[in-house]
Amino acid sequence: TPTIKKVMPIPKAHYGGRHTVTLLPGAGIGPELMGYVKEIFKYAGVPVDFEEIDIDPNADNNDDLNYAITSIRRNGVALKGNIETRSKEVGVLSRNVALRNQLDLYVNALHCVSYPGVNSRQKNIDVVIVRQNTEGEYAMLEHESVGGVVESMKVITKSNSERVARYAFEYARRNNRKKVTTIHKANIMKLSDGLFLETSRRVAKDYPEIILNDMIIDNTCMQLVSNPHQFDIMLTTNLYGAIVSNVICGLLGGAGLLAGKNYGDHFTIFEPATRNTGASIAGKNIANPIAMLNAAVDMLRHLGHKNHAVIIQSAINKTINAGIQTKDLGGTATSREVIDNILKCIKTAQS
Ligand code: ATP
Repeated sequence: TPTIKKVMPIPKAHYGGRHTVTLLPGAGIGPELMGYVKEIFKYAGVPVDFEEIDIDPNADNNDDLNYAITSIRRNGVALKGNIETRSKEVGVLSRNVALRNQLDLYVNALHCVSYPGVNSRQKNIDVVIVRQNTEGEYAMLEHESVGGVVESMKVITKSNSERVARYAFEYARRNNRKKVTTIHKANIMKLSDGLFLETSRRVAKDYPEIILNDMIIDNTCMQLVSNPHQFDIMLTTNLYGAIVSNVICGLLGGAGLLAGKNYGDHFTIFEPATRNTGASIAGKNIANPIAMLNAAVDMLRHLGHKNHAVIIQSAINKTINAGIQTKDLGGTATSREVIDNILKCIKTAQS
């Protein structure tokens, strides 16, 4: 049996039967989507309070970000939109990446399941993407060594490869999944992706009931489009994970539908799966609110508010199945009409 390091969980902020959660609306459509979450939580009587923190995208320092990190360390859990980093100051790096790194959220997990009521390119998909979330191509170590020559470092460590592989196999065992596929480019990046692949093979030995195979990222993209049903759990490095997530979300209905979870040993952040800002559709009452609502439902399950999660989830499903869908899904409904129908379904369920 594998040796899993037992980590003492840090208690989540919980006062008088209510949880406090950090809310990071971010830019673009983030604030309006969070508005819908708050409205639905209030209507459904969800015992969650939000500590809302706006991060100024133009700031030349990280004061807002540090405040957000302190808040998440205190509350244990956050719901997040996409944060923009517009400052060109040296040393101000992507705040989305900084947040995940500083909280050591080493896993990004996406459970991609088809909605029968969505007119998607592929049907009956049920794939879990387990993506390394803090290193690889996102190490943000780039420099111009001489004029016109830029070097960018991709960092793969044995310890992080092992932690994310363990997560994938433990998830497989817990959820009775049969197969893990490691996605890589070890034929070219023999050392970095080689280490990731080798580590997954070593970890797999502790889980003999689960099949491990592997696939090169190029072929993976082709296979995802032509035969996605062959995949069960996909274990990937950071950038390949971003690509694979976008392909699968595209097959299932686009950026507005699915949610993702960022896990570490102590903290969890919930957010839409493909982490888009959606600047061009902000404030127009056309953004699909479902991905953020699904993130909020995942968060309720994580906090143990199962009944509220079930009620809101079923209101979302009923709304989608009734064809009340925004334009990105091929529908004609506004964001507001989707939310109104979800509220109506919650009212019916609670009466
Ligand atoms: P950024 O890097 O700033 O996040 P991006 O290129 O990753 O930008 P966006 O341009 O924000 O991503 O989004 C990609 C596409 O998905 C856009 O066409 C956007 O309109 C669409 N999109 C994103 N979120 C939603 C949503 N909730 N509802 C409908 N469409 C969405």
